[in-house]
Amino acid sequence: MKAIQVQQLGGPAQLQLTDVPDPAAGPDDAIVEVKFCGVNFIDVYFRSGLYKVDLPFIPGNEASGVVHAVGAGVRNVKPGDRVAYAMTRGSYAELARVPAAQLVKIPDSVSFEQAAAAMLQGMTAHYLTHSTFPLQAGQIALVHAAAGGAGALIVQMAKLCGATVFGTAGSPEKLEVARAAGCDAAINYNTEDFEAEVKRLTNNRGVDVVYDSVGQSTFLKGLNIIRPRGMMVLFGQSSGPVAPFDPNILNPKGSLYLTRPSLGQYTATREELDWRAGDVLCWVGEGKLKLRIDRIYPLADAGQAHRDLESRKTAGKLLLKIVDDAPG
Ligand code: NDP
Repeated sequence: MKAIQVQQLGGPAQLQLTDVPDPAAGPDDAIVEVKFCGVNFIDVYFRSGLYKVDLPFIPGNEASGVVHAVGAGVRNVKPGDRVAYAMTRGSYAELARVPAAQLVKIPDSVSFEQAAAAMLQGMTAHYLTHSTFPLQAGQIALVHAAAGGAGALIVQMAKLCGATVFGTAGSPEKLEVARAAGCDAAINYNTEDFEAEVKRLTNNRGVDVVYDSVGQSTFLKGLNIIRPRGMMVLFGQSSGPVAPFDPNILNPKGSLYLTRPSLGQYTATREELDWRAGDVLCWVGEGKLKLRIDRIYPLADAGQAHRDLESRKTAGKLLLKIVDDAPG
């Protein structure tokens, strides 16, 4: 089969289209014929070496497709089923081996394209707004990179929870995307001081929660605009990792809570996976959750997709299309 393989850690040029042997299913696995796969920042972290992985490897942590074969012990899916998954590596390929327990069936109302675009960032937005800091009506959230793949979905889900949402983004065009996602106020953090602006918007009260996927360039200032006993949810690092700091600073800033969550731990049981994927795909099918697909690349152009994601050119989801005749 054709797959993108990384032989050496490094830049986007390491994403090379290669012929590799077809994967074989273990007893609890399914082989998925991939239609679309999602491009996510986590793929950049594995490619660059920030997250550890054995070489060579096939990147990609999210896809939609059709079950091609199953292992002897698999009961929840069968060949021909339309399925999607997140957080199993190896999706930048024509065929992917996936533990069957990670697969969810795609409802008829949702296309392959939508399912691949919704799984990872959608379930992330779900756990952040429903479990890490379960937002309630009347609360205020600040979402950084609110025009991003994860960001725009967090904004929409926070609005579904009834919260007031402020979003940051890096250009006038992206501010429009953030507003279209539902932000009550959108702040350009490249040209405005987001700390001063949030203090102004909240009459110095501060927000209940900051959802921060940007990390290095936003983290410390974010701690200054959270109300006493509010929460900093640091869930990413698109500007780079946050430098080590003294946890005592959380005290004078208001006895703040800090967490660094990840999707894997919030979909660890089948029950949680079904809850989150079920809500996300259902809301997509009903039109309650809007997906903004920025661009779809052929598999061979995975390197260009990473370049675009890393250079802040994108607003929304990036997908790789595996087969030419995939119905939308
Ligand atoms: P995005 O679509 O949000 O793209 C990243 C955005 O971050 C850019 O478009 C840019 O928006 C902003 N940004 C700010 N500074 C930089 C910088 N120096 N370099 C690049 N981008 C920058 O990507 P994703 O939605 O895929 O992921 C966002 C983050 O969330 C990643 O760190 C990812 O790992 C994390 N994540 C974490 C999960 C978890 O469970 N913990 C799950 C999913 C994602 P702008 O131009 O508006 O500043």
